[in-house]
Amino acid sequence: MSNLQPKNRVRRKYIIKGAVQGIGFRPFVYRIAAKHNLHGWVQNNASGVIIEVEGSAKNIETFEEDLQKQKPCHAVIDHFESFSLQLQNDTAFKIMQSNDTDNISASILPDLALCATCQREMNDPEDRRYRYPFINCTNCGPRYTIMSALPYDRTNTSMAGFKMCTPCRTEYEDPLDRRFHAQPIACSKCGPHLELWSKKCDVVATHDKALMQAVDALRKGKIIALKGLGGFHLVADAGNEDTVQLLRTRKHRKTKPFALMYPTLKDIQTDCFISAEEEDLLCSAAAPIVLLRYRAPIHIAPSIAPGNPYFGVMLPYTPMHILLLQALKRPVIATSGNRANEPICIDNQEALERLCGIADLILVHNRPIVNRCDDSIARIMGGRKMILRRGRGYAPFPIMMKEEAKKAILAVGGHLKNTVAFAKGNRLMLSPHIGDLDTPEACAAHEEASEAMISLYQKTPALVAHDAHPDYRSTQMASQRFKNTCPVQHHYAHALSCMLDNKIEAPCFSVVWDGSGYGTNGTIWGGEFLTITKDNYERTAHFLPFPLPGGEAAIHDPRRAAFGMLYAMHQAPHRLRFSSEEQQLLRQSIEQNINTPLTSSAGRLFDGVSTLIGLCHENSFEGEAAMALEFSATKDKDIYGFAMNGHILDWRPMIRNILGDIDDQIPAGIIAARFHNTLTAMILAVAQRQKQKHILLTGGCFQNKLLLETAIEKLQAAGFTPFWHHRIPPGDGGLAAGQILEALRR
Ligand code: ZN
Ligand code: ZN
Ligand code: FE
Repeated sequence: MSNLQPKNRVRRKYIIKGAVQGIGFRPFVYRIAAKHNLHGWVQNNASGVIIEVEGSAKNIETFEEDLQKQKPCHAVIDHFESFSLQLQNDTAFKIMQSNDTDNISASILPDLALCATCQREMNDPEDRRYRYPFINCTNCGPRYTIMSALPYDRTNTSMAGFKMCTPCRTEYEDPLDRRFHAQPIACSKCGPHLELWSKKCDVVATHDKALMQAVDALRKGKIIALKGLGGFHLVADAGNEDTVQLLRTRKHRKTKPFALMYPTLKDIQTDCFISAEEEDLLCSAAAPIVLLRYRAPIHIAPSIAPGNPYFGVMLPYTPMHILLLQALKRPVIATSGNRANEPICIDNQEALERLCGIADLILVHNRPIVNRCDDSIARIMGGRKMILRRGRGYAPFPIMMKEEAKKAILAVGGHLKNTVAFAKGNRLMLSPHIGDLDTPEACAAHEEASEAMISLYQKTPALVAHDAHPDYRSTQMASQRFKNTCPVQHHYAHALSCMLDNKIEAPCFSVVWDGSGYGTNGTIWGGEFLTITKDNYERTAHFLPFPLPGGEAAIHDPRRAAFGMLYAMHQAPHRLRFSSEEQQLLRQSIEQNINTPLTSSAGRLFDGVSTLIGLCHENSFEGEAAMALEFSATKDKDIYGFAMNGHILDWRPMIRNILGDIDDQIPAGIIAARFHNTLTAMILAVAQRQKQKHILLTGGCFQNKLLLETAIEKLQAAGFTPFWHHRIPPGDGGLAAGQILEALRR
């Protein structure tokens, strides 16, 4: 450097925040600093990465360009700041130890699917990690699921207990190696290994033998509980009808579709239609379950997804899953390893106790799972991805907010498909999917997830937001555990979550349709049209309420919704499959107002119509009857009648027309199409009666592709700008995000 004039030599400091840890950012900085002949240092701190470099002004300029343009593929920079410093005459470029004394705000990266380079090494007999089921690098492998604290260093992960061997340590410490500071770095000598257990906890086999015996067992029709990245999977041959039936019986899962894992993209293509967007999604580092329409499922047993034209399909994303499917050469069921209504198992002993009644064998490993994380589910909607269930690969990657949380806020979500959220500064972190809070195990997982947020981001929340429903377990947990709480109306939270997802400001107009949510007037809401103002909302319109005999019981029994609808129309319920005693009881409960709330729910309208036209008489899982309507709809242009009386949207003319169509023996598929046409005509009619151009479509009903895409089309044709969900689920999995926003608004 002696040839440089001191006045040409400058020193600059860079402060970079965002997702810049655990993805090879520091070695990348090291490489470009070396390339441009710069000296100084780079360091991870709790809020991101700090760099100081000195050298010629021109070199620093090109260094800065490279820094922004050539950053590692998974890096997301959301804050970039730089300034000049006094020269310090460093003589080399160094990667310094993490400084963990700072205030923690760094982004936690989600787990990433195995990268192509690692996969090549794993399949190379010459490589020292040949067939090693825990191979990873700075571009792939576990992150969130093994992390117990920030900053993301090996000591703060569940790999802390594994002492690196010399070759692994050499790679880990070499800034030019692609495994430099890959925190879960391991090999067969020093890292985790597999074991195959019998139900009695005997070790049947270990290492590669464990994997190959599991493959044999799968071929013979056995069910295996397999420990993956964020929890256990139950795995079984998807082509073996007897096995699939057995799994349904053992898991008490009547008709809810099972997710599938195919060996390769090519294998998926033989069974399913895949668009370019769907292919990208399947092959992305998040590797979610993607809902795909199937052709003729030659390799798949009929009871995988009864009555459903879609399969939930994913590609293997861990080295272990890849090795397993490479050997098996056919698709498997890969469903969450849990008992009905319980959260996914993460602990070996817990899995043994809870899954031994379902699985024949258990394939485990000794790398502990710190944070539970289910597979994500996504669907292409309106031409882009919509995350229906946010988990592995996405959570808890921050969503940037325009608003700044001056103090930390926790939101505990709703009841069904629960997630929790945490806000710090202008970042909102949404937890992975936890599930319905119906069991003590699920409630415990909900508390754990809330605790994990608080301890990971190291801030006690100053405010805890929850649903306005006083009986939700999440609401009770919030009020028992925290002092400063704030209730948020359910559908308002849905609308706010959709605004955040689309970066939309108030005022705007939202169509919020779902199964049920606690209203502010003692009724159950669910067919809502809300105008969102700068600091509040107005209930601009809603469906005509009808009685719901049995309340909660109606969620599982669509016939009860239909009964209530017909009652509101003074129609005899003879079309419904109730005995005369049952009819008598239901009428009594309505007339004497016993456990019969009034509801304006759109979801229950779907239920009622689905059972009236003979499609589905039982919801064995949420949305089953509504899905039957969506899937059966054929092409038809007709629209049924409806009426607007003030702010009440009257659906009774539509049901009257439907009853007429039933009497005329119009096929159910045509009625289903006309029903969808009518709902979207209603959306348009209500939109045209108000002033806002921005129309949000949110709530669980907008997981329905036919409803959503028809609504988008009609609204756009009429000059409106519709917005729908993208990263935050439209259903109750997104509530926690909306709750945070309302807490911020107050
Ligand atoms: Zn890799
Ligand atoms: Zn090693
Ligand atoms: Fe909801």
